[in-house]
Formats: sequence, C-alpha cells, structure tokens
Amino acid sequence: MISEKMIKLTESNSVIRAMFEEGNRLAATYGRENVYDFSLGNPSIPSPASVNESIINIVNAEDSVALHGYMSNAGYPHVRELLADSLNERFGTDFTLKNIIMSAGAAGGLNVVLKTLLNPGDEVIVVSPFFVEYRNYVSNFDGNLVIVPACKNTFQPDEQAINDAITSKTKAIILNSPNNPTGVVYNEDSIKKVATVLEEKSKEYGEPIYLISDEPYRELVYDDVSVPFLTKYYKNTIICYSWSKSLSLPGQRIGYIIIPSEIDEYELIFSAAEIATRILGFVNAPALIQRVVAICLDEQTDIAAYDINRMLLYGALKSYGFDVVYPQGAFYLWVKTPKDDKDFVAAAKKHNILIVPGSAFGCPGYARIAYCVSKTQIERSLSAFRKLAEEVL
Ligand code: PLP
Repeated sequence: MISEKMIKLTESNSVIRAMFEEGNRLAATYGRENVYDFSLGNPSIPSPASVNESIINIVNAEDSVALHGYMSNAGYPHVRELLADSLNERFGTDFTLKNIIMSAGAAGGLNVVLKTLLNPGDEVIVVSPFFVEYRNYVSNFDGNLVIVPACKNTFQPDEQAINDAITSKTKAIILNSPNNPTGVVYNEDSIKKVATVLEEKSKEYGEPIYLISDEPYRELVYDDVSVPFLTKYYKNTIICYSWSKSLSLPGQRIGYIIIPSEIDEYELIFSAAEIATRILGFVNAPALIQRVVAICLDEQTDIAAYDINRMLLYGALKSYGFDVVYPQGAFYLWVKTPKDDKDFVAAAKKHNILIVPGSAFGCPGYARIAYCVSKTQIERSLSAFRKLAEEVL
C-alpha cells in the first residue's frame, strides 16, 4: 500500500489530470484548433538560438567523461562564479559562488530550501492566490501552510494580514512576483512594508523569519515595470530562480538558489542546502544545462509575443465586460468570475475554453487564463469569450 500522504496527493492530482483528459476529449470531438486550452503555464516561445548552439558546441568541445560526471552538490564553481558576476552587475549586489547553489528549477530550489529550514509543525505563510504546488512542497517536510489573502483588487501582499498571521512557529514566508496566477508584480512599497513586518516579528519572537522569493517570472515583465530585488529590502531573504520561463527551458530543470552571506546562520544554511540537494536525490543540478545557462546569462526568450497576446486578450475581455486584473508580468490573466468560479469554468468549457478556477490557487471568485499560447489560438477564441460574456455577465 502507498503512504497515506501520497493517497491524498494522488486524489488531488486527479483534478489536474481530469482537466488534461477533458482537453483531449474536446479536441477529439471538435478538432484541436477549435479547443482553446488556456490551462497550462507552459512556455510557447522557443529558447534563444544560442541555447541550442551552446549545447552543440559544449558537446563537441568537452571531454565526455568530464562533461557527464558528478560535481559538487552546489554545481560547477565556474558557472556559479559567472552567475554571481552577472547578478552583481544587474542588481548591484556582491554575491560570490559561495552564495549560489544550482538547482533543478524553482521547484527543486524551493524543496531544497524548505528541507533545509523546516521542522515538523513549522508554519510557512503564502499569499493567496498562490502557486498550487506550495501546498505539496510544504507538506513534504511536515510544515503547515498558512494562507494569507492578498489585498483585494490590487493583489499586492497585505502586510497587516501577514503581521496578524505570524506566530512563534512561523519559519518562512514565500512571495512570488511576478505572480502566478494574477500577473501582478509586487511593488517596492509593498515589499518594504512586508520587510518591516518580518523584521519586527523576528525581533519579537527572537527567531528569524525567512523570506523565500520564488522568481521564475522575474524576466517576464511588460511596460518597463521593475521587479524589486528582495535581498536589498530584507536580509533574511533566500531567492529561488528558474530559467524555465526566461529561457523557455522547463523540461531541462535548471535554476539557482541565492543564499546571501548576511543571512542569519549563513554557514549552516548554505551547507545544509548543499546536503539537502544531495539527499533529495537531485545530487546536483543537471550538468550540461548548467554549462549552457552560464554561456547564455545575457540571453532571454523574446517575450514580445507574450506581450502581444497579453494586450490582445486583456483588451478583448475588458471590451466584452469582464473584470480583469491588469497583468504586468508572467503570462497569466486573472479574471473575476461573475458567478462561482467552478461554475464559470464549467460554462467556459461549454464554449471549448479551458481555464483554471481561482479556488485551485486558494482564491475563489476568479479564474486564471494562461496566455502563453499561439496568437492564432487567442484570435480564434475571441468569439467564444464574447459568447461566454453574453451568457454569464
Ligand atoms: N513557482 C511558480 C510560481 C511557478 O509558476 C512554477 C511553474 O510554473 C514554479 C515555481 C516551478 O517552476 P520550475 O520548477 O519549472 O522552475
């Protein structure tokens, strides 16, 4: 028999599988081009050409044994050094390779950090709506998820609500900006207020509360919006970054963790995170793709197509009368549902539109539309959205 924990997780995962299967069923009935699947956050823009070129060059140039061998759990020193230099140039920081652990994407990084920090029963605050997997990641290490709603309408973190949710058991808070699912970028003012709360509460309880910044969408921002770099605002910040979206490499599993030197218990945390990388079975982030990202540090997927999709869909939905949060980053639209979000999603499905109810992100009354799809899909879907609006608004 499988573990009780996995029985529960398997049951909840069947909802996602059911949605996927429903998409296939609709496609078989109506034709793939007549099904408007906006349910997945899977990049649709190819990686820059330099990514594939680097793979070929590395494979041709490197000694095969060295190329495929183990390395230190934190990753190749030369990759971490180049990365630290690049971050320092971009953000005015002073990281070295000793502040960086290469990870298997943000998911791998978050699991390493949570394993490093959590004792059973420790609380981890998340701001809702939040990335669904946080629930699983926190439960992996027997932590308790504490859900704190974001501010109404703006979806910025609510510092007063965070303040009220902190207890002596609070070990960490996870912030994700640009945010999945709202597309909102947490602004400097919000970050400063959250940092003040965390500082005061850490002092009050005599233990640091760690801020874990989950940043797979850092580079996916529009309208020249800037994303605050959180180590500058709060010293006990740990960053989990990923190239899954910024270089369209989600299947390659590559990202990094930044553990700044000024963090409380830096030495212990860094070495524990290296060991956690090994114990969780990653051993090290994938070798070849570490070398690739080191060559492509100044590269980024061309997000112009996401931007076009964003404005096309946002403008159309507004004109049909939907209440949509203006998206500044990532590739999601967050729409207020005129009725129960699950009923709304079911109504959308009748028009062959597949979207995710807000309750899946801990925020009923909304739905997420992932616009990382082809522009053609969006254009074809517009009349279905218009009919949906006529029906439900
Ligand atoms: N965090 C957020 C908010 C995400 O949306 C995702 C993926 O969609 C992840 C983490 C995990 O990304 P990855 O492990 O591919 O870097």
